[in-house]
Amino acid sequence: MSADAAGLGRASRLLRAGGVCAFPTETVYGLGASAFSPTAIAEIYRLKNRPTWNPLIVHAVDVDMARGLARVWPEAAAVLADRFWPGPLSLVVDRADHVPDAVSAGTGTVALRVPAHPVARELLAECALPLAAPSANRSESVSPTCAEHVVRTLPDVPLVVDGGPCRWGIESTVVDVTCTPPRLLRPGALPLRMLRDVIGVIDCPQAAAVVGAARSPGMGRRHYAPRARVVLVDDFGAFGLDGLPKPCGILTHDVPDAALTGSAAHVEVLPDDPAGYGADLYAALHRLDDSGMDTVAVLAPPKGEEWMAIRDRLDRASAGPGLTA
Ligand code: AMP
Ligand code: MG
Repeated sequence: MSADAAGLGRASRLLRAGGVCAFPTETVYGLGASAFSPTAIAEIYRLKNRPTWNPLIVHAVDVDMARGLARVWPEAAAVLADRFWPGPLSLVVDRADHVPDAVSAGTGTVALRVPAHPVARELLAECALPLAAPSANRSESVSPTCAEHVVRTLPDVPLVVDGGPCRWGIESTVVDVTCTPPRLLRPGALPLRMLRDVIGVIDCPQAAAVVGAARSPGMGRRHYAPRARVVLVDDFGAFGLDGLPKPCGILTHDVPDAALTGSAAHVEVLPDDPAGYGADLYAALHRLDDSGMDTVAVLAPPKGEEWMAIRDRLDRASAGPGLTA
């Protein structure tokens, strides 16, 4: 469904009637429903096969709407919202009593974000509801960065508003502001450095970058994974693709040598800057799956903090089944 007035009108009526629909944000496509409708929220969990202990991010049209969903609005929330909203930052606050527990998954808190994508903003304004909207994919698998990804991976979603490819291509940064100092729960599209410049110290448990912090229940070990098995490789020179199940594709940010590309069944070369890499990462994983790879050998991204969100997603994509939190 195109994101014109007719399409947005239909999506808005569906949401107001307690239905679900997928829509674009600047991070990834979301599967949205009224944050006030427990039955619509239950439908999100069902369609995604999402465990009920994993809470949802609620999208608001502006700071006032977001604030109305919080029991208290800490100073850190005010400062961060003022600087980074609309944008790819989700703030975890104590939830107001009228927010259904289904959104919070029993945590007593709610994650809030004001998205920057013009289609998301128009939809939020038109339906005049806060929208709970996790990424529009099956639980644990690769997030969608264009409408076609949603249609293919969640064919039962009744309506997908098409707003073209997502600008960031990687999920929002999630920060818990119920504690002092604020705490990073999920690295994401908004770089940590920019948060620090505004708020000073941020508690950044090592775990958030590797196995997920206990306070963000959704950060299971295996997540963001394509169908193919992902193997992180520090240096292709050492062993090439020897010993990896075939067909095997390569995902790299370096210029691959001819011998390596010759032995790979599908090669994806992404930009070697974190924003460019993040913007195409999930689409590249979708393409590798589409071309039938059994294995994807990924050149490990650089170690710097600006690559933190990408390393996090690739670590989780490469975690084996059975390790899910
Ligand atoms: P998704 O919308 O699928 O990209 O995932 C949302 C992320 O935000 C997951 O990692 C959730 O665990 C996290 N999240 C959402 N709500 C909360 C909350 N109330 N407390 C802590 N983490 C949350
Ligand atoms: Mg998700």
